[in-house]
Amino acid sequence: MRLDGKIILITGSGSGIGKSSALLFAREGAVVIVNDLAEDKGQETVEEIRSEGGQAVFVQADVTKPESVQRLVDTVIGTYGRIDVLFNNAGISGVGAIHEVEPEQWDRVIEVNIRGVFLPSKYVLPHMMARREGSIINMSSCIAEIGLARRASYSATKGAVLALTKSMQVDYAPYNIRVNALLPGTILTPFVEDYLRKSYDNPEAGYESLKKRQLSGDLGRPEDVAKAALFLASDESKFMMGSPLYIDGGVVFG
Ligand code: NAD
Repeated sequence: MRLDGKIILITGSGSGIGKSSALLFAREGAVVIVNDLAEDKGQETVEEIRSEGGQAVFVQADVTKPESVQRLVDTVIGTYGRIDVLFNNAGISGVGAIHEVEPEQWDRVIEVNIRGVFLPSKYVLPHMMARREGSIINMSSCIAEIGLARRASYSATKGAVLALTKSMQVDYAPYNIRVNALLPGTILTPFVEDYLRKSYDNPEAGYESLKKRQLSGDLGRPEDVAKAALFLASDESKFMMGSPLYIDGGVVFG
């Protein structure tokens, strides 16, 4: 199996891409630490993994709160002694052009999507540095590199995550730690369903218009991104360092 015995922490894995990755990683032999803000959703992921015979535990934490993340990391280290892979996946959507966005909404998107990468990395890295081994996967988005309408706060955060990934890679390469970024296109998850509800009077018509900007002819599915995450988590990607990995079905315009 491709992740045999690896201890892998996935933030925001109670839903969508994180959940799909947790299921796939467990099928490949990993022990998955499922984290989410929402306890019920996280527990569901764990139950599904266990029902397939996989290994997983749930640890609730808010990735924006230092004490909460420190407790999460301490719990995992106390139980398993190490974290091989950290997947910084938790994130929230932000809809609106600059003039439409309230300062509080702006701050929350920045907080979850950037601070939520900084804090888990900050508390996990010393353990990886001590072992001189590790892989970190940061969730960016294709929006880091292409302009899409009314996504100001969200674009800003995902561009920041891509830049942060490259900066982190330089700092931690001497410790044999790889840091790469995933850049998905539009993936059909609860997050995109929420975006469709908030952005279109007719969400069905919105879905059809999102499909039209894909060379693939349809939106992606969480499994499509989970398979790319599996590659970054495994040793098969050992020559990838500070790299963006695109899984976007050929997004051509916004
Ligand atoms: P989702 O809403 O289905 O799942 C996100 C999960 O993160 C939820 O379970 C939520 O409870 C959790 N979460 C939110 N805030 C948290 C916090 N403070 N602490 C811990 N957990 C928290 O979304 P998804 O579509 O699976 O997105 C996952 C990641 O992929 C996000 O970073 C998103 O920006 C990114 N992404 C998604 C798409 C897409 O089209 N769906 C495209 C590119 C990138």
